[in-house]
Amino acid sequence: MAKKTIAAVDVAGKKVLIRVDFNVPLDENGNITDDRRIRMALPTIKSVLERGGKVVLMSHLGRPKDAPDAKYTLRPAAIRLGELLPGTNVVFATDTVGEDAQAKVAALADNSVVVLENLRFQPGEKKGLPEFAEKLAAFADVYVNDAFGTCHRTDASMVAVPNAMVGKPRVCGFLVEKEIKYLTDAISSPQRPFVAILGGAKVSDKIMVIKNLLGICDKVLIGGAMAYTFSLAQGGKVGGSLVEPDKVDLAKELLTVGGDKLVLPEDVHCGDAFSSDCNKKVVASGEIPDGYEGLDIGPKTAEKYAKIIADAKTVVWNGPMGVSEMPPFDFGTKTVAQAVADSGAISIIGGGDSAAAIQKLGFADKVSHVSTGGGASLEMLEGKKFAAVELLDEI
Ligand code: AMP
Repeated sequence: MAKKTIAAVDVAGKKVLIRVDFNVPLDENGNITDDRRIRMALPTIKSVLERGGKVVLMSHLGRPKDAPDAKYTLRPAAIRLGELLPGTNVVFATDTVGEDAQAKVAALADNSVVVLENLRFQPGEKKGLPEFAEKLAAFADVYVNDAFGTCHRTDASMVAVPNAMVGKPRVCGFLVEKEIKYLTDAISSPQRPFVAILGGAKVSDKIMVIKNLLGICDKVLIGGAMAYTFSLAQGGKVGGSLVEPDKVDLAKELLTVGGDKLVLPEDVHCGDAFSSDCNKKVVASGEIPDGYEGLDIGPKTAEKYAKIIADAKTVVWNGPMGVSEMPPFDFGTKTVAQAVADSGAISIIGGGDSAAAIQKLGFADKVSHVSTGGGASLEMLEGKKFAAVELLDEI
């Protein structure tokens, strides 16, 4: 059943606690290098402010060890938010549920936002502790989950906080609504042909996704280092490529289940070292010589995948086709990105590296949806249900 969104809640004069995902990348000086996650939360925040609500924002950033750590403060995110919301009073609380947070939430005026300090500075967040959750829950009259990147987790702010707010509205924000819509619609009623493209380093990360998508898609195209574990399963030679020998049996099982649906690379671009200026060779899949490792899909494979993608009506893509951060081994990923952008298909891109490739090439506007959550989008494609979403109010 569909989940209620913040649009359906009367927020006038109310305090609205929004779990956002401001887990943005920072450089060594603490400057935000990509504010996309903050910008993606703006529609929900603006909607509450415009309708007379007051906003309390909570998020994690990085992986501090259950204690305050200046390296992971959310202050830069609060400053950036203030720049993105001119005319709105954005204040930063120097703690999460302590005196400063309590005072600033209590004093919250109209058209104002409080950004609480990093949730993960508190041990209660990762542990999902009710005592911690109750302090956060006491801050507001309405709970909103707009943190798609964290929806597959059961941290306090995702589950225990809304559980402590039973009887009050507990709804999803517009970003979570959009992510769920794309990822579940693609699975439940796809326009065909439906093509999935899966790449990246490890087959072990994506086994369940491959399994689930083989049951739904018309074709599943495999790239990245995980293709070499399939090569091993077929008795091929992989040289010094990144492989997972303990996953060979699982790869064999997927080959049997997948049949013609599972499409593997025909050729491989390999090198004699993991570097841009190594000696390079293109060889047939399963024939990587000793002293070489596979670093990208080969040109024939790139062309073949591009043709399959050109005919698709729905495309789901997660993971690069090769070492896309190291040219010329970004060729396969770029070719696939171009094909997805040109296809006119409903296209959903998840995962940091494939999303980065799409953005770097300037194709973000040509795809239907670039997910903000790598892990969450993968789990959704596995067909998993998220406790953090399940508990929200139904329409
Ligand atoms: P993932 O996080 O699983 O999507 O994997 C992304 C990583 O996989 C990137 O850092 C790529 O460099 C890496 N990768 C993709 N193909 C290969 C390859 N053939 N050999 C080594 N690493 C690869």
